[in-house]
Amino acid sequence: MTGKPRPIDLAELERSALEAALVERGHEAFRAGQMFRWIYRRGVSDLAAMTDLSLELRGRLADEFVLTTPTLAHRETSADGTEKFLLRLADGRHIESVFIPDTPSMTFCISTQVGCAMACVFCLTGKMGLVRNLSAGEIAGQVRVLAGALSMRERAFNIVLMGMGEPLHNYDETMKALRMLADPQGFALPPRRVTLSTVGLLPALERFATEPVMPNLAISLHAPNDLLRGELVPLNKKYGVSEIIAACRRFPLQKRRRITFEYVLLAGVNDSPQDAKQLAKLLARVKSKVNLIPLNAAPGIPFERPSDQATDRFAKILADSGLLVSVRKSRGRDIRAACGQLIVEGQKKSAAQQLAVIM
Ligand code: SAH
Repeated sequence: MTGKPRPIDLAELERSALEAALVERGHEAFRAGQMFRWIYRRGVSDLAAMTDLSLELRGRLADEFVLTTPTLAHRETSADGTEKFLLRLADGRHIESVFIPDTPSMTFCISTQVGCAMACVFCLTGKMGLVRNLSAGEIAGQVRVLAGALSMRERAFNIVLMGMGEPLHNYDETMKALRMLADPQGFALPPRRVTLSTVGLLPALERFATEPVMPNLAISLHAPNDLLRGELVPLNKKYGVSEIIAACRRFPLQKRRRITFEYVLLAGVNDSPQDAKQLAKLLARVKSKVNLIPLNAAPGIPFERPSDQATDRFAKILADSGLLVSVRKSRGRDIRAACGQLIVEGQKKSAAQQLAVIM
């Protein structure tokens, strides 16, 4: 049976691929730029709204293409201005994205997977297990939806890939989404405004080091040695601390850039002065900055947030040994939008099983 060919999803196309698809169907290549501007800058989610294309052309394009956009299922605002967005994907799955204003920049925290396979013991998303990867269109689609909902299409914003999921575990789609967001006809988001945070999937990290366009890199370290890190981050049993640090030392950093090391502080677990001293020693020869994240506690997470004094003491030891240190202000905890608190109920799967596949 020869039916009509399935329409192509514009949300999943880089501009070069859109050009090729247009030319293949007898259209002019420059239409790709026009369509990109409509989709990303003006935020249309319907081909019929692209009013600088002739009605006839819009009609033909509507037969050949669709544009899938996540829908906004729920939106919640924290007392501190942080906003959490629950987005519904085409297959009915849900993800969360977060808007963090004034940090001092405007920041979108974006998900790369539904759930996560990494199973870090203090993270709620880790408890979900991995449900599935997001497509590039779904990753970039979060930015389209948030920029529209917050009337920020014309404004500068940062992106942190620190929502649900491990970006390097969904490498190709994540990189493709970043290229789509960087397109000069779209959001034209410069890579320096993007931070990719990873638990340290070593082969993917090595590959990331060869990318032509490089966002900022953040490593979720959380412990200065394998014994401790292995208990907190199961993946450490495969890729240990010294291997990750060695990869970071080799990482091709641009001038004035540093690798951020995230360190979730868990009371009585990894927040002792000895841990701080060992961490300082470990990072002494890396172009680094340390971002301490006092645990955001949640039901089902068997750890406690350290006192402010313990956090300050830890930070001071690092600073005194010459490291750049910041303490992440917790934003949006009242609406469970803070780090490690993103979870969508009702789609949980076993994390342990999936981690076994990676290890
Ligand atoms: N998978 C990536 C992206 C998630 S980023 C990564 O691990 O880097 C989210 C950051 O929040 C990570 O550094 C993560 O370790 C941290 N985090 C997870 N659970 C947390 C919690 N309960 N409290 C504070 N930070 C948490």
